Amino acid sequence: MKMPSLGALLAVAVFAFSALASADEVVVYSTREEHLIKPIFDAYTKDTGVKIKLVTDVENSQMQRRLKVEGKDTLADMLLTVDAGNLWEAAREGLLRPVQSKVLSAHIPAHLRDPGNQWFGLSVRARTIFYNTRKVRPAELSTYEDLGSQKWKNRLCLRTSMKIYNQSLVAMMIAEHGEAKAEQIVKSWVANLASAPFPNDTDMLEAIASGQCDVGIANTYYFGRLMKKKPGLPIGIFWPDKNGKGVHVNISGAGITKYAKHEKEAIKLLEWLSSKKAQDMLADVNLEYPANPAVKCDPVVAAWGSFRHNQINVAKAGELQAAAVRLMDRAGYK
Ligand code: FE
Repeated sequence: MKMPSLGALLAVAVFAFSALASADEVVVYSTREEHLIKPIFDAYTKDTGVKIKLVTDVENSQMQRRLKVEGKDTLADMLLTVDAGNLWEAAREGLLRPVQSKVLSAHIPAHLRDPGNQWFGLSVRARTIFYNTRKVRPAELSTYEDLGSQKWKNRLCLRTSMKIYNQSLVAMMIAEHGEAKAEQIVKSWVANLASAPFPNDTDMLEAIASGQCDVGIANTYYFGRLMKKKPGLPIGIFWPDKNGKGVHVNISGAGITKYAKHEKEAIKLLEWLSSKKAQDMLADVNLEYPANPAVKCDPVVAAWGSFRHNQINVAKAGELQAAAVRLMDRAGYK
């Protein structure tokens, strides 16, 4: 077999490199369901001519492992995922790079982005209290801590502590109250459980509706999705801590990868994702809240009423996640 000449090999290499580095494309690794994201990226391509290659794996751990294994050879320019705990972990693993952007600093409030600028919140989900409207009056509810009081004995339902949403919630509680008090609160919740923890928020909400339990904690968009499907369910939403620190919020968000081949284009895309046009689509499609406070939320979401964000930086969800997992284990929260 005739060996290809050095010139031919070089030509192939140069062609491959230029294909790799074509300036009008951004490669996004995403753990968000594709139907939530693709229409938004299509709008960007339509506006700018920049193509977006979307690679989806809804398992965050798989996606982060892939980025790690690919190392500097990765084609990914941006990582898009849910939960500040996951983004914090990606930054800690050295998978992201800091981005200095006046646009992002102006659009995204400080508590919803990495203090080191490696990731930025793009939509907000509130993890709040839900109740059975036939069995509970909203006036009986007050704070997250209060769900551990005697009056809720055998009436509380929770999702499993294995889910990062609850790990982040408890991490934020450690940041707010200190570890000893947070542990006391989680123990008091466990003592009030009406049933073993549920595998997901939707099952937990259905258990509230069926009367299996009376109160619980879930992300707002699961409530939105469920009520869209079954509008008659007797579930109410409650915003706790009105006079205290406020409601625990978390984010979906994104960062630029450490080895991004299209850094400038990826930053432009990230900035656009924080702009009004994208924020409208990004939040509404999953019934979340825009991270950019200048953007109005979907009317369905607005009807749930307004609440105060707990202002603790969501990075604490990552920093204190390991402590939260150990705490929940000690408290017997399965
Ligand atoms: Fe979710």
